[in-house]
Amino acid sequence: MQPGVHNKPTVDFRQIRMVIAKVTSSCNLRCRYCCADAIPVTQPGATMTMETHQRAATMLIGGTESDELQWIFHGGEPMLLPIPWYEEAIEFCITAAEANPRIRRLTIGMQSNLTRLTPEYLQLVKKYRIQIGTSLDGPPRLSDVYRQAGKRVEETIELLMREDAPPGVIAQINKNTIAHMDEVVDYFDKKGFAVMFNATCPTGRGMNVENLTGEELYNAKRKLLERADQSANLRILGPDLLRQLFFFHTGQRDMAERNCHGYNCGAGVTLIGVDPNGDVWPCGRSTDADMSKLGNVNDPGSLRSYESTLRSFHEKDLWYLRCFGCAAKLICLFGCTAFDKDSISTREIECLATRLLHQYFWSHPELVERLVARFQTHMEKTAAEVREKKHAPPFLPMHTGHHPCSSAATAMVLSAQARLHPIQPDGTEPARIPQTIE
Ligand code: SF4
Ligand code: SF4
Repeated sequence: MQPGVHNKPTVDFRQIRMVIAKVTSSCNLRCRYCCADAIPVTQPGATMTMETHQRAATMLIGGTESDELQWIFHGGEPMLLPIPWYEEAIEFCITAAEANPRIRRLTIGMQSNLTRLTPEYLQLVKKYRIQIGTSLDGPPRLSDVYRQAGKRVEETIELLMREDAPPGVIAQINKNTIAHMDEVVDYFDKKGFAVMFNATCPTGRGMNVENLTGEELYNAKRKLLERADQSANLRILGPDLLRQLFFFHTGQRDMAERNCHGYNCGAGVTLIGVDPNGDVWPCGRSTDADMSKLGNVNDPGSLRSYESTLRSFHEKDLWYLRCFGCAAKLICLFGCTAFDKDSISTREIECLATRLLHQYFWSHPELVERLVARFQTHMEKTAAEVREKKHAPPFLPMHTGHHPCSSAATAMVLSAQARLHPIQPDGTEPARIPQTIE
């Protein structure tokens, strides 16, 4: 297939800045809280065909008007696919991006469990500057309670750091790690991994994993802030906490931003998910939640209900009325639309943790001031280093790197103002709740 040649889709993809390409539903591990199938990778339908990948790339890379685009290979475990598949797929993406005059920067990412990184895969990562994201919940002995192969993952992260391809790490906070949070924080601080902490959501095989309480989640965040204040390492804060610190410090945020942490998130607007069959979803997590399929890249006509399906995906219910008078909305990240849609308990946990964190910021203004000042200094230094290094990319101009491993990193990349108006009620019945919080 030639890039740019396909049936014209009926959907407006102009704002897409990130594509989560779930190239396989198979995984070589079987972590307790994950929803990826552990079916053999050789099973029919377990992996994305090259033709489907090319149709997705043609439709989405050809359709966007964003100046930056992240194409992230996701799974299951994407390193189950052979290296030649990726070489062909990435070259196709590059050609498609170069054919789109709007795109100035294409970044390739991969979210992997890092248990299959061979020397050959490492060469692929370096050749295309693939930005790797992975998961590790703490020291291997703690991580392995819900995950697997922690020691191997730890060693591979360290290898990638030595090879100047440092991955981003997502660490889940759950009932296991929360009981050892000091040890977990200490571990990541000493290792120097770029880490982002998420609360484990009940999904897939983890539907019965016990939820954290809001207090527990707040206490974990407080520990991270206090450790970052004492140590030289700001990496343990991750983009989420940093964002919340900045919102609080400046007293401002753009509530209309269509990113992962907006009141109306960017799913289906600025980012999009495609699964191995070519089915299109509002984002990678809605694929996991089997929520709001939008169509299929192999059949552009199937996308005809895209807008109405997406509207219903984003529609807020009465629970969100509480947000309008809430002072903590300044720092609120509003959970995940896909995971929270059917889970009031998940919303409550995040909501309480946010309100407690907001109170903490109010009672610790010096700590907020110190961390923000340190981060600003760090950013200025990094910007100077990047200017000095003048990355010479293998393909598109201005290809540089920060890891796209996670929803939080996603949000950093998606921070440009989205142009689509926030989803509104359809007007056929009285608005039950305002659908925006501007
Ligand atoms: S803290 Fe809770 S009530 Fe406040 S804005 Fe966030 S979700 Fe809404
Ligand atoms: S909030 Fe959830 S559904 Fe929305 S973009 Fe982020 S991960 Fe996807």
